[in-house]
Amino acid sequence: MLHVGINGFGTIGKRVADAVRTQPDMTVAGVAKRSPNFEAAIAHDRGYDLYAAGDDGHDFAAADLPTAGTVDDMIQESDVVVDTTPGGVGATNADRYADHDTPAIFQGGEAADVAEVSFNARANYDAAVGADSARVVSCNTTGLSRLLAPLEETYGVEKARVTLVRRGGDPGQTSRGPINDTLPDPVEIPSHHGPDVKTVFPDLEIDTMGMKVPTTQMHTHSVNVTLDANPDASEVRDLLSRESRLFLIPETLGIDGAGKLKEYTRDAGRPRGDVWENCIWAESVTVSDGDLYCFQAIHQEADVIPENVDAIRALSERTASAETSIQRTNDALGVGRGLVEHEEPARHADSAADD
Ligand code: NAD
Repeated sequence: MLHVGINGFGTIGKRVADAVRTQPDMTVAGVAKRSPNFEAAIAHDRGYDLYAAGDDGHDFAAADLPTAGTVDDMIQESDVVVDTTPGGVGATNADRYADHDTPAIFQGGEAADVAEVSFNARANYDAAVGADSARVVSCNTTGLSRLLAPLEETYGVEKARVTLVRRGGDPGQTSRGPINDTLPDPVEIPSHHGPDVKTVFPDLEIDTMGMKVPTTQMHTHSVNVTLDANPDASEVRDLLSRESRLFLIPETLGIDGAGKLKEYTRDAGRPRGDVWENCIWAESVTVSDGDLYCFQAIHQEADVIPENVDAIRALSERTASAETSIQRTNDALGVGRGLVEHEEPARHADSAADD
């Protein structure tokens, strides 16, 4: 049984903890919180051992939240630590994990050099096996890596061009909005997303442009990939629908955007309505002279969660292969569960002229 500590119990940390808890080969060693806020109360209610992070004098006892020790005690109790502190804070914790000789997983808000490898389970699981540290790439980079990996393997990618229409903030981030605007963000081109994808696929040609819009629901990617081959769209849909973390939204569901997607996963009984899969509108998948186009939606709070679980297994070297880990994570967490599968209409061979 792998003992996993989670440092930082916010949007990503609480989801990682709950996902770890579902896995048959893992248990939550504890979660570290800086302040005794509502998320600390939830951690306590769920039975996670609570450890105090930071020395800024927050009084957990006064909030009736007993702690099991300090963040260093939690790291000592853990086989692997997942750092889910805010972007930039993770790097300041790196020495601490190294001092305890505890492998550590960082998040996409950190610079790539925080860890030995930038990680996506579908694209480069093996690169993290046995490493001391890995960075699970950001929600957007995770979404692009999952889509590009099968395209690159099957057809070869000459160049990818993606416009990322990003949510202005998460639902709990009252400091971020709402904005009443459509912002080029960043204004510089390419946006940081393309170089980040290249930390996973060093040889890939990719340009990205970023925008921000007034929604907290999900990101939407407008994708164009120039392939080295010229498959027809139904072949590409077949390929993508065989990927366990890609959901091809069937046209029949009448899902026109992120709002209905999240309503759908809430109705399906997902925890917090989380959408762990990339959601690709099936009818948007179009190929013209080797140029593939599609739209996909990415739930920023959720898609990196199964990747963190796989990264834990990779660092701990307890699982033989990416496929085994991905399958185990998916089964225990419920990735793909409750979603109607896209079915490509049966293809009929062209009738011979003399039929
Ligand atoms: P968050 O602000 O929701 O949660 C961070 C938590 O860490 C909070 O509970 C905060 O109190 C706590 N914290 C702050 N300083 C700490 C410290 N020194 N020690 C321990 N805990 C501390 O942030 P988040 O959205 O969960 O983001 C965490 C990381 O995940 C970032 O690197 C972010 O870029 C990345 N990420 C976020 C999203 C997203 O959409 N929210 C998606 C993918 C990746």
